[in-house]
Amino acid sequence: MTIFIAIYITLLGLVLGSFYNVVALRLPAGESLISPPSHCPSCGTRLKGRDLIPVLSYLLSRGKCRHCGSRVSPLYLLGELATGLLFLGMYLRFGLSGQGITGLVLVSLAVIVSMADFKYMLIPNKVLLAFTPLLLAAVLLFPQGMLWEHALGGALGGIVVLLLALTGGMGMGDVKLFALLGWTVGFPNVILAFLLACLLGTIAGGGLILSGKVKRKQPIPFGPWLAAGSLIAFSYGSQLISGYFSLIR
Ligand SMILES: [Zn+2]
Repeated sequence: MTIFIAIYITLLGLVLGSFYNVVALRLPAGESLISPPSHCPSCGTRLKGRDLIPVLSYLLSRGKCRHCGSRVSPLYLLGELATGLLFLGMYLRFGLSGQGITGLVLVSLAVIVSMADFKYMLIPNKVLLAFTPLLLAAVLLFPQGMLWEHALGGALGGIVVLLLALTGGMGMGDVKLFALLGWTVGFPNVILAFLLACLLGTIAGGGLILSGKVKRKQPIPFGPWLAAGSLIAFSYGSQLISGYFSLIR
């Protein structure tokens, strides 16, 4: 039975991921989520059923529009695959539990925010507003620790990134995002999430500069790394923290 649930949750993630792509790429541009229906941004041809199968459509058409041959952004494929695999990861880690549900909501927020931040260098307020009541409720129903630990996590997350935003490194979107993520992962996981985000962001930024994709001092989005650090801290925070302290003892 477990294998069927695992497959189902992965497929659910792939399908939702394809919707999250639409949300992340349309909302910041001020476009409606439902109209016009999905279309090729180059030739405007409306996409039909066979163009809308997550992952498969992209692979079968080799990442090109079937009508005009223009390249489809690999971001679409990335968003779908990431949602599917992270949904599966949350199920394998937490099973069908309250924390598993919180995990799926967290993955959804992480994917939408990351896609929007990669594409537009901003974190849409509407997305944060939509996810705030969901994550407030998920933590109240299925807390990972004491409620004060979640409240402290939210406060710390917001304050740490606010200090960085005031010195110019990050935007207010990052502040609100990490307050929400900090609430969800709680204290002390929020500290681990932040350190992981700095580590991942530095590796990615260094890689991009070395490969010549971005110039030194050109800003790179930080939202995806805050989200990735929080996903790791949410899933394996207590193991990583106790493992670390047993190493240095
Ligand atoms: Zn086209």
